[in-house]
Amino acid sequence: MKTTATQLNKRDELGLAGLGSMPAEEVLSWAFERFHPRIALASSFQHCVLIHMALQVRPDVTVFSIDTGRLPEETYECARAVEDRFGIRVRWYFPERDALERLVREKGVFSFRRSPEDRRECCRIRKVEPLTRALQGLDAWITGLRRDQGGHRGNVEKVERDDAHGGVVKINPLADWTWEQVREYERIHDLPYNKLFDRGYTSIGCVCCTRALAPGEHPRAGRWWWEQGVHKECGLHVPNWNI
Ligand code: SF4
Repeated sequence: MKTTATQLNKRDELGLAGLGSMPAEEVLSWAFERFHPRIALASSFQHCVLIHMALQVRPDVTVFSIDTGRLPEETYECARAVEDRFGIRVRWYFPERDALERLVREKGVFSFRRSPEDRRECCRIRKVEPLTRALQGLDAWITGLRRDQGGHRGNVEKVERDDAHGGVVKINPLADWTWEQVREYERIHDLPYNKLFDRGYTSIGCVCCTRALAPGEHPRAGRWWWEQGVHKECGLHVPNWNI
């Protein structure tokens, strides 16, 4: 019988405690065994470690991504390199046209710089709503969240109930990986990666809301750098996130 999101309330029944110490590859195998075909892998094309691992377990895995309309060229180049390398086609999701046109016509092309609320409104329209559509019909999704990214991500489990998206199961196989491990895995397998990492970036989102870091800055300091004292998240991974 397939596991449903609501059953994740009963962690012991699923034996999730044991998953916390499992290597990423085994977490993926467990996830596909449980949830295929109602499972998909989300990528923002910063790296493709999870795609590389997942394809070895499920060559037909669905890889999806959100095109906010403001992504850097390097992200598209990484996506294209991944498609070429692995012979896959990414399933892209875009913002809902009417909502985006309304936002830009009423508030301008840089509305997100006005206030945290305006920034979250932009993220909601360009990212959160498309993600909600991408998750429709799924029992589980796979993300590249890592605890070493800090903030809300400091407590992510390898498998958790995603209350931000109706209780769907969220699989984070790299939760206990460090950034150095990601880069080492890329080197060993000669994988495509986002070339902005060669120019001082450590976290990559929309081009207008991401900058390279100065020495000693927190890895996510380059995201929405003009905001102070608010969570550096776009709402994709934060429960009960509202504008
Ligand atoms: S990261 Fe910036 S441009 Fe992208 S959706 Fe959020 S506020 Fe809008």
